[in-house]
Amino acid sequence: MNISDASGVKNHSKNQMQGASGFHLMQVFAGLTVGISTLGAVIAAYQLIDNQTGWLEWSLLAGFYFATAIGIEGGFHRYFSHNAFKGGQGITWLMGALGSMAAQGPVLFWAATHRKHHAFTDVDGDPHSPRLHGKHTTGRLKGMLHAHIGWLFTKDQASWAQFAPDLLRKREVVQINQSYLSWVALGLVLPAAIGGLVGMSWQSAFNGFVWGGLLRIFLLDHITWSVNSLCHTIGTRAYQVKDNSHNLALLGLISVGGSLHNNHHAFPRGARNDHQSTWQMDPSGWFIELLGILGLATKIKRHSASALLSSRSQTNHPNLATTQGNATHSASNGGK
Ligand SMILES: [Zn+2]
Ligand SMILES: [Zn+2]
Repeated sequence: MNISDASGVKNHSKNQMQGASGFHLMQVFAGLTVGISTLGAVIAAYQLIDNQTGWLEWSLLAGFYFATAIGIEGGFHRYFSHNAFKGGQGITWLMGALGSMAAQGPVLFWAATHRKHHAFTDVDGDPHSPRLHGKHTTGRLKGMLHAHIGWLFTKDQASWAQFAPDLLRKREVVQINQSYLSWVALGLVLPAAIGGLVGMSWQSAFNGFVWGGLLRIFLLDHITWSVNSLCHTIGTRAYQVKDNSHNLALLGLISVGGSLHNNHHAFPRGARNDHQSTWQMDPSGWFIELLGILGLATKIKRHSASALLSSRSQTNHPNLATTQGNATHSASNGGK
């Protein structure tokens, strides 16, 4: 299925994912992704309890998890959404393919939504803030649920033309967007094929499909969505930015650096999130540095130690001074 045909990439309208029936196509994708991956997680849990798993299942889970996690945090987030570094067509396709395999929506949808989050962080207009449903306990819980998963099912989505015009002009990005479902399918078929070939049985192929495919999508999607829900609610704040972003260092490794979210909101275009100490885990930043060493990434945006330190002493970090209503600026240069 061609996402572009259904979405109308060319008309750049606000309703770019509106299906013919009037039902929002992205909501259907979200429902299928959440439903099927949850079913996969239940099957995996049963297999675990029933002692049906071994090193092959765990290896496929870990390998495909971290590859696609880097695709999301290093690719969809830092590369496509924020232009934290430059790469050639090979990097664009690699990051686009790996990010798409995570089944979190096509790259234009992901980047436009995320840039809108930066333009209106924790104020009206933020697609997935947990802070806009009241301060009482029920409101806080509602907000958390909305920020984690509920926002996927709302009809008001970020306009690609407004928030990602630069990406819409790049042919290969639009091609990656159009082939989204093919990449999702490949992310399911590949672990099944590897599992089947290594284990030489249909059962091991099925286990590869479940562990390297469905369970991997389930875990990564919920960790990514935790950055929206948990990291705008609890954790530490290294920078007194004008939003409620927090660092959750405990999730550093598993979120490949995404949970150092207060650091990110203070320096949204930076390629590195590990600002405060060497124990902060930022695998996406390390991967970008590796690409730089290999000559595959250039213009990597780093901030000097003195710039990071001086920002910490400011009550309201200047990077956040233009947070509200800065959609045009945000759309044109990848966040801020
Ligand atoms: Zn945020
Ligand atoms: Zn961001």
